[in-house]
Amino acid sequence: MPKPTRLSCHCGAISLEVDAPVERLLQCNCSTCRRFGAIHWYVPADKVRMLEQSRPLSTYAWRHVHEGHHFCGTCGSSVMRTGYPDGVIALNACCIEQVDIFSLPVERFDGRTKMPPGITR
Ligand SMILES: [Zn+2]
Repeated sequence: MPKPTRLSCHCGAISLEVDAPVERLLQCNCSTCRRFGAIHWYVPADKVRMLEQSRPLSTYAWRHVHEGHHFCGTCGSSVMRTGYPDGVIALNACCIEQVDIFSLPVERFDGRTKMPPGITR
């Protein structure tokens, strides 16, 4: 069994462990993603364990109640996004510990034109 991948926010209040390969990385230019600046790493939610949560995650929900952008309420690091079908969540690959994000194979998704219409600014 490969070693789990660890992610954490900047202040360390939130940390996660994931049993999934670091692949399916995506950057999106939709109205929300471009502002959060996250690199989405799509993983099954049941492969993710919360290791530390000394402060609750803060959530920005929009469009539908089950969709949310979750970030550390202390340091503001974008940690994950929920609201995808089939039990998938998107972790922020920028929070992976000990990795140079410039070395990650990231694809781009044109969410600006392909996402269903929501709040656009
Ligand atoms: Zn934090």
